[in-house]
Amino acid sequence: MANDNVAQLEKHVEELEKVIADLKQKNLDLERSRPSSTQDDLSVPISEFEETLRRLVQRTAMIVQAEKCVIMVKDRETGELVARSPAFGIDEAEVAIFRVGSETGISGSVYTAGEPAIFHSPDATSAVQDRGLYQQLNLRNGVTVPLLIERRDDQNHVVDRVTIGVLHCFNKRYGGEFIDEDVRLLERLSRNAAAVIANAQMFQEVVEERQKLVHTLDSLTSGLVLVNSHGRISQMNAQARAMFGVKEGFNPNGVPFEELIKHEQTADIIRKKLAEAASVAAGTAEDDHAAKRPDEMSILDEQDQSYIYQVHTTYVHDDQNAPIGTAFIFNDITDLRNVERMKTEFVSIVSHELRTPLTPMKGFVRTLLDDPTEDIYTVDDRMEFYGIIDENVDRLGRLIDDLLNVSRIEKMGAAGIEMNWAKVELRKVVESVAATQRGRTDKHTLIVDFDPEEIVVETDPDKIQNILHNYINNAIKYSPEGGEVRIIARVEAPCEQYPTGTLLLGVKDQGLGIPETYLKKLGEKFVRIKDPAHQSAGGTGIGLYLVKNLVERHGGIMWPESEGPGKGSTFYFRIPLTQPPSDPDEEN
Ligand code: ADP
Repeated sequence: MANDNVAQLEKHVEELEKVIADLKQKNLDLERSRPSSTQDDLSVPISEFEETLRRLVQRTAMIVQAEKCVIMVKDRETGELVARSPAFGIDEAEVAIFRVGSETGISGSVYTAGEPAIFHSPDATSAVQDRGLYQQLNLRNGVTVPLLIERRDDQNHVVDRVTIGVLHCFNKRYGGEFIDEDVRLLERLSRNAAAVIANAQMFQEVVEERQKLVHTLDSLTSGLVLVNSHGRISQMNAQARAMFGVKEGFNPNGVPFEELIKHEQTADIIRKKLAEAASVAAGTAEDDHAAKRPDEMSILDEQDQSYIYQVHTTYVHDDQNAPIGTAFIFNDITDLRNVERMKTEFVSIVSHELRTPLTPMKGFVRTLLDDPTEDIYTVDDRMEFYGIIDENVDRLGRLIDDLLNVSRIEKMGAAGIEMNWAKVELRKVVESVAATQRGRTDKHTLIVDFDPEEIVVETDPDKIQNILHNYINNAIKYSPEGGEVRIIARVEAPCEQYPTGTLLLGVKDQGLGIPETYLKKLGEKFVRIKDPAHQSAGGTGIGLYLVKNLVERHGGIMWPESEGPGKGSTFYFRIPLTQPPSDPDEEN
């Protein structure tokens, strides 16, 4: 009878070994096909591995008549023995607590000694971890065998043996105990199981490594395209896929680059570099020096916004120096180029602006010098000349101050602006600025519109004057036909952001207006509206940049509104009526 049972079990084992061998082969096949598989189908073998494991633990439990069966493998990162899901008769949550040091308890001793063990309920001498587990999982007895991997030589002699984990079976059915026969069966099974697990583990590691690499490449801000020597794409990161409009979910790997990269300039660069790579590989070109010279190309996005990219090319070789492909790295240098362009424009604008006040100064000084005996010009004439010189010296001074402030803001941001805080009666300041500005125009009517009439705001008197001068001066400058310039000041109720209430100030004109595309950009450094009417008024594009920073220094915001070109504009700012007690900027 007992012999019959054993024979039956042996048959089971053989069947199981066959299943394992099949799966092992499948695993190998999948691994072999890996280079051509896509990122998405890489997850398939992992779930297949789970299926293998499920069948393995289930059949093993059946063979030794155990209620529960689980495999533990050594975690490379923590060095612990960790149970793998799925297990048999042990749910996911319970599997999660199966985790011990590789020298702890029964699992640890079987793992380290590489010898199987049968055991019964733990006693006081057992490891705490074991006792905990036994209690939690309701375990009575068990048998544990090491998961061994053996490497054999041509004569089938074992030359190397590594333990990768342990296999546990718990609770012999029908209240029985595990016996040596169970150990023998399990040892036989575990050898094959170990090979499958080691294989799957290795495969999983490769998959994980590959996924890590893909994620790393995708998180780069540069675009990256790897083209193999047959002109097919073998890698394209997220940034590059977005640049060349590759549809989401489409796998570009293996596709000829010309089918995907329709952008002519880029396709030309890739063609040229691939030809160079081919001649380097064939030994007809000296070196890859040419590839090191970056190319440049520009591309439009879906919103027709132009981007400039610098393209670096590298020939990629494997360890044996055989060519793998050519990598193209696309760096967005749009901002860099724009800054360069703006700098050049700015230098020429500033030089022109500096020269503008110099011309009348020089002219009137010359005129005065030409009349040393004061015979030609009357006192009134002279006073007028001095007045013009004085005004232009002021203009020059303001321009230089603005430039200095810009450089300070560049260095330290708005926080770099030094403030002499004081409670200021706003109306007085506005009236005085308006009076100065009225002296500069006879085409415009300046109206001061306050509600309430008296507004006290915490600010720096010089800075608020600077803001007002900028706004009102622009309103006049960009309303060449004249018209009304209204300075509107209102007090707004406290809100969560500004618990002491705010000042809303707007300067409204009836001038050239602002095209919609510029509404968000005005206030950025050196931005001027590219339109002959605006440009002919002269200017540097730093006035509003300074205003924006000064307003931000108050903890406020500025913004323009306009119905469009020719429809006038209103420039607003909103600042708190009082400043918070301690300025966090100053604490730093
Ligand atoms: P600047 O006047 O020296 O060019 P600003 O920074 O003061 O520099 O202004 C930036 C640009 O904003 C101006 O070039 C002009 O095109 C536009 N702008 C400013 N104020 C007005 C306004 N009141 N109406 C129309 N456009 C304006």
